[in-house]
Amino acid sequence: MPLTDGTRVPVLIVGGGIGGLALALALARRGRRVHMLEKAPSFGEIGAGLQLAPNASWALHDMGVLDAIAPLAVFPQRIVWMDAISGEQLTALDLGPPFRERYGYRYMVMHRSDLLDALLSACRSHDAITMETSKEVTTVEDRGDSACVTCADGTQYEAAVLVGADGLWSTVRKAIVDDGEPICSEYVAYRGAIPIGEMSRDAGLDNVMLWTGPEMHLVQYPVRRAELYNQVAVFRSRRYRAGSEDWGTPEELDAHFAAGAEPVREALTKFRRNRRWPMYDRLPIARWSRNRITLVGDAAHPMLQYLAQGAAQALEDAVALAAALSRHPADVRAAFAVYEAERVPRTTRVQTTARAWGDYWHLPLERAVQRNRELATRSPGDYGETDWLYAYACGPRADFSSTARIEDR
Ligand SMILES: Cc1cc2nc3c(=O)[nH]c(=O)nc-3n(C[C@H](O)[C@H](O)[C@H](O)COP(=O)(O)OP(=O)(O)OC[C@H]3O[C@@H](n4cnc5c(N)ncnc54)[C@H](O)[C@@H]3O)c2cc1C
Repeated sequence: MPLTDGTRVPVLIVGGGIGGLALALALARRGRRVHMLEKAPSFGEIGAGLQLAPNASWALHDMGVLDAIAPLAVFPQRIVWMDAISGEQLTALDLGPPFRERYGYRYMVMHRSDLLDALLSACRSHDAITMETSKEVTTVEDRGDSACVTCADGTQYEAAVLVGADGLWSTVRKAIVDDGEPICSEYVAYRGAIPIGEMSRDAGLDNVMLWTGPEMHLVQYPVRRAELYNQVAVFRSRRYRAGSEDWGTPEELDAHFAAGAEPVREALTKFRRNRRWPMYDRLPIARWSRNRITLVGDAAHPMLQYLAQGAAQALEDAVALAAALSRHPADVRAAFAVYEAERVPRTTRVQTTARAWGDYWHLPLERAVQRNRELATRSPGDYGETDWLYAYACGPRADFSSTARIEDR
């Protein structure tokens, strides 16, 4: 649909990650026609596991894909927080029936590509959604009552509504706010999934395992019907220098985890070391929209991954934006105002809490003693810390055709 004859695209989404695909679906289910541009030659996700809390399931239910992904997901019993150095359990969060009753959905973990494939397949089977790959948007022009984008291959599109779902390094964001580059946390992640048979049966395979220590942590959980085991090892590099690539090396990874308890050291032997992910976020901003242009997901509110909420927030954005555009079909600015009023305060809290949560995980040993005493008094059925995050539903929902019963969610 390049702009050769002056035809406008009603809604143009830049970026076909979890946020962009989710938004396309949420809009199409509310009767909107959508076109999407993805810069990669094919749709796909890098990295292995994804934790999806009940607020993410709520949004996936709205999009009608919860039934499709549930058979591929794993529903862990507990999130278990361990001391990475002593090997002692610090606390746990029970994810069983009381959790599901409280939040309406189970806690889910899955392979990223399983979620992306389900979203993509739902988008492909929807007549109202068209998608193109190998379309890298390089410039965005705000024309007041429309927006125009130009791709690296010279094609142009004009849209009545333009949404940047183009992630951490968003090009669309630059048309809305000039807040520089993402902020490097100096932490780096190594991650990947291995056949679950390679793990010891004592490894707590039914749970999400979180091991924390000074300036480092390890997260483990099963994915894809428990056929694979996902692991993420994260640490702060003392060699970080802005502009340098020589930091967060495999040697530093090994040095950081060498003091770990035996299961932690054992886990580190299973990591591939050929790729690392530096961790970035941004400070929250008060406005995500300008005239006909707005943002969703990491383009709007990139966050550190310590609450496991980046994708969940992108999914919530998708439902909220689609609902706002439905409520104000003829007034895009009014819809964006409703969308921002709903989403900016919430994602601001998630972004800032994620940073604080990371600091709490990574305390030096002397300060961790007091923290561990506090955690020891928590009951696994205490949901006081998670209500604000997991008990969330915004805007009117689509008319579901899903047959999911509450016990299947
Ligand atoms: C180690 C780690 C663990 C995480 N764990 C969790 C978790 O357990 N749970 C959770 O909810 N979240 C988690 N997250 C966060 C989550 O992965 C992200 O927040 C989420 O994937 C963001 O989705 P998005 O669609 O907004 O952006 P992206 O996934 O970055 O997608 C952006 C898309 O836009 C495309 N694009 C970019 N620029 C252009 C352009 N100029 N033109 C066209 N296309 C473009 C890209 O190719 C890409 O396909 C984790 C993150 C990390 C790093």
